[in-house]
Amino acid sequence: MSASTSALSHYTLSKATLDFLARQHGHFINGKWVHPSTGSSIDIHDPATGLKISSCSAGGAAEIDAAVKAARAAFEGPWSKFTAAQRSTVIWKISDLIVANFQQLCELEILDNGLPTPLAQYVCGMVVPEFFRYYAGWPTKIEGSTIPAAPQGKLPGEALSFTLREPIGVVGAITPWNSPLPMVMLKIAPALATGCTLVLKPAELTPLTAMRLAEICQEAGVPDGVINIVNGYGESAGAALAAHPGVDKIAFTGSTEVGRLIVKAAAGNLKKVTLELGGKSPVVVFPDADLEQVIPGAARACFFLQGQNCMAGTRLFVHEQVHDKVVEGIAAIARSMKLGPGLDPTSEFGPLISSQQRDRVSGFVEAGRKEGAEVVCGGSAPMRPGYFFEPTVLARTQSAMTPVKNEIFGPVLCVQTFGDGDLDAVARAANSTIYGLSGSVWTRDLGIAMQMVRKIDAGQVSVNMHAAIDPAVPFGGNKQSGWGREFGKEGLEPYLKTKGISMTW
Ligand code: NAP
Ligand code: MG
Repeated sequence: MSASTSALSHYTLSKATLDFLARQHGHFINGKWVHPSTGSSIDIHDPATGLKISSCSAGGAAEIDAAVKAARAAFEGPWSKFTAAQRSTVIWKISDLIVANFQQLCELEILDNGLPTPLAQYVCGMVVPEFFRYYAGWPTKIEGSTIPAAPQGKLPGEALSFTLREPIGVVGAITPWNSPLPMVMLKIAPALATGCTLVLKPAELTPLTAMRLAEICQEAGVPDGVINIVNGYGESAGAALAAHPGVDKIAFTGSTEVGRLIVKAAAGNLKKVTLELGGKSPVVVFPDADLEQVIPGAARACFFLQGQNCMAGTRLFVHEQVHDKVVEGIAAIARSMKLGPGLDPTSEFGPLISSQQRDRVSGFVEAGRKEGAEVVCGGSAPMRPGYFFEPTVLARTQSAMTPVKNEIFGPVLCVQTFGDGDLDAVARAANSTIYGLSGSVWTRDLGIAMQMVRKIDAGQVSVNMHAAIDPAVPFGGNKQSGWGREFGKEGLEPYLKTKGISMTW
């Protein structure tokens, strides 16, 4: 029995999933799976057990170069002949095929990342198909404008000035492991809608659904070379993609630290760059808020995806009047959450992605303990296989403490309090971070809500909910959380360039 077969024997999986895992995964270049005869391979693990379930090739500069050439040829060739309406049809077909492959995509996503079944079902059945449907509507609506200009002194009627919106070209996409399929969707859908082509380097820890999605896109009618996947490590394949002179734009999602490396690597040909980076988002609770809503909402804001979520509400600012009730309520939810493999439908809280990530989270909790934080619940890794860590609440924290300052990317909620006083002081505390990705305000007072919405320095702020994403609503980071926006109409902009044209006759 192979390592991967025994690692999967305690799950009930579809044949499609088992067959996919049993394959030798290479790179998807110009519509074909390519298997390099040399080079290393990467083992893919189930984070709920730590056991190997599959493997893929580790590509480098040569594979990136071949993929960029294929993407350039497709951009200038067959893909450029597609009308906007034909691109719409293909993107809509992708969403239909995602729905048709729902079971397999759920199983692969859970095995790769560890997320619980209900969340995987929501992602693969709702979030991802809806996102493709939303972007399927855009190709026929990407328009330039006519401009009442007078180039070279021409009078009205003697000249015409207008703009063309053109695809930016070959896009290099680099994605993280925390929500693998949605992260890839965020790059592929706007690239297809605008007429770009793409070379994707998925996270080395979670490449499975990205590879399956590339096949689905091909089946939907996306021409060969439009979507290419090179598997591999960030320092080799990722760095080669970011530096490649044939790439016109990098769309990166990952840590702020690697984001800085991407900017440096992109400087060679001054390729355009968008960055979706880290976060340390505030959840601000006023005393008049509906606590029945706040307590489960704040627990979900932090513990969703085991806290491995860029938008996670990991700094809770709660008014001292309701502090005890809110903290006890969240801790009760955290203690009651059933830890277990995502494929067990009764699990409510899955494993972290790797042993390194679990140890890193544990280190932040220990640092907080030493600096005077009170561990209200959780705080350790249970003795069981896999990379589990308990949902944790740290009370009595301050802005200068290690777990408060750093993006932990794990299930650790840091609580601070505030009293009556001006909203500027509350906002200053909420904004005392290098990040500015997301945030939420909880109150029944619309005046407070609207003032706080303006004062919180983040790309996304929600009221009486947290991380309220929708395909049509722009999302992205202020400060060191990133450059540019994804989602919505604004999410198309980084994939387009504007040409200004003036003509006379
Ligand atoms: P990461 O270490 O920055 O990696 C992200 C991607 O970059 C991976 O594919 C990685 O490859 C690759 N990479 C690493 N070094 C590289 C280099 N020198 N050049 C080019 N590519 C390189 O981030 P992560 O640990 O996977 O993900 C967690 C981070 O992502 C968190 O900070 C989180 O906040 C952020 N995130 C942000 C958003 C958002 O929308 N703002 C969404 C999700 C996650 P390997 O996989 O081989 O390391
Ligand atoms: Mg990594």
